[in-house]
Amino acid sequence: MPPPPSAAAPALPKTPGAPSVEPVPFLELQNVSKQYRMGEHTVSALDSVSLKIEQGDFVAIMGPSGSGKSTLMHVLGLLDVPDSGSYRVGGREVGRLREDDLSGLRREAFGFVFQQFNLLPRLTAAENVALPLLYSGEGVDLERAEEALSRVGLPDRFHHHPNELSGGQQQRAAIARALINRPRMILADEPTGNLDSASEKEILALLEELNAQGITIVVVTHEEEIGAHARRLLRMRDGKILSDERRLPAAKPAPGTAARFSAGGGLRAAGLFEYVRQGLAMLSANRVRSALSMLGILIGVGAVVAMLALGRGAQKAMEAQLATLGSNLLVLRPGSRNVGGVAQEAGATTKLTTEDAAALREKIPYVRDVAPTVNGRGQATFERRNWNTQVTGVPPSYEKMRAATPTVGRFFTEDEDRRRARVALVGLTVVRELFGGKNPVGENIKVNKVNFQVIGVLPARGGSGWRDQDDVVLVPLETAMHRILGKDYVDYIDLEIDRVENMEAAEKMIENFMLARQKVPPSQRQGAFQIRNLADIQSAITENSRTMSVLLASIAAISLLVGGIGIMNIMLVSVTERTREIGLRKAVGARRRDILAQFLAESVVVSVMGGLFGIALGWGISLLFARLAGWAVAMSPQAVALAFGFSVSIGILFGFYPAKRASLLHPIEALRHE
Ligand code: ADP
Repeated sequence: MPPPPSAAAPALPKTPGAPSVEPVPFLELQNVSKQYRMGEHTVSALDSVSLKIEQGDFVAIMGPSGSGKSTLMHVLGLLDVPDSGSYRVGGREVGRLREDDLSGLRREAFGFVFQQFNLLPRLTAAENVALPLLYSGEGVDLERAEEALSRVGLPDRFHHHPNELSGGQQQRAAIARALINRPRMILADEPTGNLDSASEKEILALLEELNAQGITIVVVTHEEEIGAHARRLLRMRDGKILSDERRLPAAKPAPGTAARFSAGGGLRAAGLFEYVRQGLAMLSANRVRSALSMLGILIGVGAVVAMLALGRGAQKAMEAQLATLGSNLLVLRPGSRNVGGVAQEAGATTKLTTEDAAALREKIPYVRDVAPTVNGRGQATFERRNWNTQVTGVPPSYEKMRAATPTVGRFFTEDEDRRRARVALVGLTVVRELFGGKNPVGENIKVNKVNFQVIGVLPARGGSGWRDQDDVVLVPLETAMHRILGKDYVDYIDLEIDRVENMEAAEKMIENFMLARQKVPPSQRQGAFQIRNLADIQSAITENSRTMSVLLASIAAISLLVGGIGIMNIMLVSVTERTREIGLRKAVGARRRDILAQFLAESVVVSVMGGLFGIALGWGISLLFARLAGWAVAMSPQAVALAFGFSVSIGILFGFYPAKRASLLHPIEALRHE
């Protein structure tokens, strides 16, 4: 036995809670075969190998290249599955174990050392060493990692990254990582293959020392030097064990050294925290790429936030506008006198008069003003032009109630209404059709052959659905009823209610009042009068803001989709780039769900970052609109929460496929990935 290396080496810590039964032999292979199909050839990497390895042994496996050494090692370490034969670890048949149990066993029974070290380049030496702890549920304990590093002779390299360490130092760190979970056994695949001879000697001394402390060592090597120091030497050729030479008896195993079986617990908060931390690290390591992949989410979330803020702003603006336009208007129309919804006889309808209107204004406290209205068609003529239009008769109160102050000229007066004066206001469509756009005020027109003087032009109303609201001639109510249309009843009564809050109460009161006034029997009350809000104005404005919302929502939807695809893309690239890392993580005990969680956490980190920037962008857009359109923007916490929720879901939704792919990678294939 050579002297132990110079580094101080504390005793191997005792395993807590290990079962007292000590199965010997520790590893047992029986007739294990593994074949690879290469086109038409099949290569027997392992050909019916039987082998027992007991605890405390130091086994060197030697043989020419391609003789099956690595395959044997991978089968022993549960990284690869044989085609046939039996393999027992601690007396337990591993072929029957579930995937998660295999991960648990890999984590707790074995420590792996690879020729290429397989340290993760972004992590420091201590973080690399602590990695297996992430999967054993003990939490990343850097102090313990530093202890392990000291034990392998690297007490002053905790915070170095792998590229700041020599090959020998990297391999020492890798051995420290293999030791961190206090494994029963270290499996080393050509651990000195990439090292100079001085480093090789150090690593060999370290392995011997660990073996002296009771840890079983299995090492695949080309170095006769290592073979010469082993307690037992196996030589392989063509997938078979050629010779099996025992040089020294196995060391006394460390007490309580039986393989523990546990699948480990569920995902732990500490683990998730660590994944998020690593996700952020990855993000800052690939800034440009991450920023580009965030772009879609950023725009999408920005659009969502802007949409909600503007929607609310528009709503508020609309309410303010409606207050001046008269959102507190009700329209009372006559209805039919039905019994149980069936008209009793043809023409059994209620009727409304100007007296009803006056009574409503007087008797209902909520009613501030009334405008009984009649409508009809009329033939308007001016000089040689003819235009068939709507004739509407209203009292002067209409001007205020319907915000109909003329843009040119004036409205008619109470006196003119009473005198049945022949004065008229015209809508813009009539101005265009009869006057060719010239100012009509002062001109004389005929409506149904009655002379009228035009005294004003009505403000533009635009179309509401199929009806052009500017195609109208407005005349005093009395004039319309008695001089043009010949009606004794009004078609409907506009009622202005004092406050929006009182609308509902007013509706009830007006209906009851009218039913009583016209003595409608209880059986005919349903539908005898119809009362409506001024839904036309409301719907027109709602329509506008809805158009805007639909536009923004479609931008949002498309951007979020594109953003999601961007994230999926970047995650797929990341999975491919880090295939070896995934293999390594699996080798040190990560279960599928751990890998899944890690990559999901990363994609969520990307999408949430995009979402946060998107919220800022959306806020900016809303402020800009607010300034341009003069709207009060109203950013709500719900909108921010919704946007945040959107980004998280996109991250999960689109990150799932790449993460699932990563989690399903086969450990040894991932480790072999170039
Ligand atoms: P060694 O480690 O002794 O060099 P290996 O165990 O790596 O040998 O390989 C044993 C045999 O199996 C070789 O002939 C090799 O070509 C073949 N082999 C190993 N891995 C694969 C694989 N993934 N696909 C195809 N053939 C493989």
